[in-house]
Amino acid sequence: MEKKRVYIAGLGLIGASLALGIKRDHPEVEILGYNRSPESRQIALERGMVDRVTDDFVTFAPLADVIILAVPIKQTIAFLEMLAGLELKEDVIITDAGSTKSEIVAAAENYLQNKPVRFVGAHPMAGSHKTGARAADVNLFENAYYIFTPSNLTKVGTIAEMEELLSGLHARFIQVDAAEHDRVTSQISHFPHILASSLMEQAGAYSQNHELTQSFAAGGFRDMTRIAESEPGMWTSILLTNPEAILERIEDFKERLDQVAADIEAGNEDAIWQFFDQGRQIRKSMEIHKRAGVDSFYDIFINVPDEEDAILGVLERLRGTSIVNIRINEENREDINGILQITFKNREDLEKSAKIIREQTNYQVFLD
Ligand code: NAD
Repeated sequence: MEKKRVYIAGLGLIGASLALGIKRDHPEVEILGYNRSPESRQIALERGMVDRVTDDFVTFAPLADVIILAVPIKQTIAFLEMLAGLELKEDVIITDAGSTKSEIVAAAENYLQNKPVRFVGAHPMAGSHKTGARAADVNLFENAYYIFTPSNLTKVGTIAEMEELLSGLHARFIQVDAAEHDRVTSQISHFPHILASSLMEQAGAYSQNHELTQSFAAGGFRDMTRIAESEPGMWTSILLTNPEAILERIEDFKERLDQVAADIEAGNEDAIWQFFDQGRQIRKSMEIHKRAGVDSFYDIFINVPDEEDAILGVLERLRGTSIVNIRINEENREDINGILQITFKNREDLEKSAKIIREQTNYQVFLD
């Protein structure tokens, strides 16, 4: 039987990471790659992420059993139009990686209708502010949601075939309607990016007349604004391809800010307290507390001093327990101490570890 051929167009962070993930479970698959600029093309070839490369999108398309478009949204749509005019393998699966889905799915339905191809929109929900094949990571999608947005071009069996091909990503596959995908991501991803950049812009302007703004910005501010370092081109196209849902979230948020302002003006202590308490309760109940997708809340918090080997000393004492994640929360630091957060697989190890640290160190230990 002929080797299965997967064609990845766009060997950037996402495309090259997908290539690595496919190779991990399916080294027998031949991966063909397209990239516009030579740098990522060369890196992908040299590091064995792909078997062959081209700088001409059309060249490999007719050879492929699966075509993955991992380029910016506008270019994804342009490539869908080009694919519609090519002689492709019958029943080829065409899919993408774009961060918004409605426009891409609509374009596919427009260009590929009545063609002997299959299409399924997809959004692998992981990323980084880094770009290019240089930043590729085989573990990028581990435990991340890999969202498929089926439409009438998604024939039965298409998604199962893609899940099998992508098994090496160790992602969590899920199917969602494209419009619902865009609404939900407007709330948890697109709108927060607008907020982060607005905060940075506001702080930047304020620091012109208040120079200590720069020095005092610490953990909380850093956490709130980390995503403001994202690549501007990608976020511009996300905002422009999901305007309705995002504008609706902005309006909703303005009302919330107005309410807080009114409560402050009125000195309404109770309302302000409720506002913070509600935020805290909702955050605690969300999946973000399941760090790295680990379905557990078995967290210990240890107040460690900023001393050589302090963290290593804690971990050494906990050798043999089921640690699945560690994190250092500097935002809680007043001055010298940082909070070391360790997540275990089960309560037994959590309690055992708390006992060990309390008995063997003078560090404060909290269980959530
Ligand atoms: P990247 O900048 O690392 O790579 C983009 C790729 O597209 C590169 O190979 C680049 O050469 C190519 N490209 C850019 N403009 C092009 C054009 N006009 N013609 C041909 N090729 C062009 O970006 P990425 O993070 O890999 O993003 C790729 C896709 O994945 C985008 O649609 C993005 O919305 C989506 N996505 C990104 C993330 C993330 O956080 N980075 C997460 C999920 C999905």
